[in-house]
Amino acid sequence: MPTSLSEAQRYLAEGAVPVGGATLVWALWQRDGFPEQAMSLRELPQATLIQREALGAAVLLHQVDDRVPEVLRRAASSVGTGAVRRAATVGGNIVGSTLRCLLPAALVLDARATVLDRDGSYETDLAEVVAKRHLLLGLRWRDPVTSRYHKAPGEAGGPPPLVVATAVHTGSDGRDRLLVAVRDGYEVSNETVPCHDGPEQALDALEGTGLRSLPAAARDAVRREVTGVLSGPADR
Ligand SMILES: Cc1cc2nc3c(=O)[nH]c(=O)nc-3n(C[C@H](O)[C@H](O)[C@H](O)COP(=O)(O)OP(=O)(O)OC[C@H]3O[C@@H](n4cnc5c(N)ncnc54)[C@H](O)[C@@H]3O)c2cc1C
Repeated sequence: MPTSLSEAQRYLAEGAVPVGGATLVWALWQRDGFPEQAMSLRELPQATLIQREALGAAVLLHQVDDRVPEVLRRAASSVGTGAVRRAATVGGNIVGSTLRCLLPAALVLDARATVLDRDGSYETDLAEVVAKRHLLLGLRWRDPVTSRYHKAPGEAGGPPPLVVATAVHTGSDGRDRLLVAVRDGYEVSNETVPCHDGPEQALDALEGTGLRSLPAAARDAVRREVTGVLSGPADR
């Protein structure tokens, strides 16, 4: 359990494997053997932050509360069971799990990831973190105007339930734009469209994006969520 970045870097160089709550790796390690060294980030200040615009990778899912935007809070509260959420971490969910219920929420916050490698820590985008399985220290984003998270009901062990995450951000030109991310099966896609003229403008614009090819039920859910996030009271 490193307490500084330089210490974490040293363990990384020695080949330590990152571990969060071990909710996924424990069974694998029991079957295949335990690694020589595993590194938990829970004593590292950068990895345990919970702020309006930042969330550390070692934060437990049940600790993700209304200090962070609604979309991320609801995503965390939708993962697994209470027992899983009391042990599983943000980093383990985004980098280590296949479902990654937090990923659509992080995408609509336009979050940047802070990662650590042998040369030090740096910022990168979420797609790279997921593809390369970097050591994630945490996420940073700009507070949205409003946000929302929808996860369809699903059965344990069944197909991944549909997720639609939405967030409205004000651009540097003062105009609002809508970010939408959809998990359909294991695939996550995301788009950004203008929305300063209201839901119809955003829905029309989304018709010209890749989300148009989603199955009908997913498109209906997107319409509902987009209309809701742009018409309802601000849910930060
Ligand atoms: C019963 C059950 C129900 C579940 N339901 C859901 C669900 O509805 N939605 C969902 O999204 N997930 C679900 N999951 C999966 C859950 O998200 C993961 O178990 C959990 O997030 C993994 O977190 P962890 O901290 O325990 O990871 P660990 O098991 O400790 O690690 C998992 C992997 O992530 C890597 N890792 C851990 N931390 C980091 C880091 N900081 N940087 C880089 N790599 C890291 C590890 O090296 C390992 O490869 C469920 C799991 C269970 C057991």
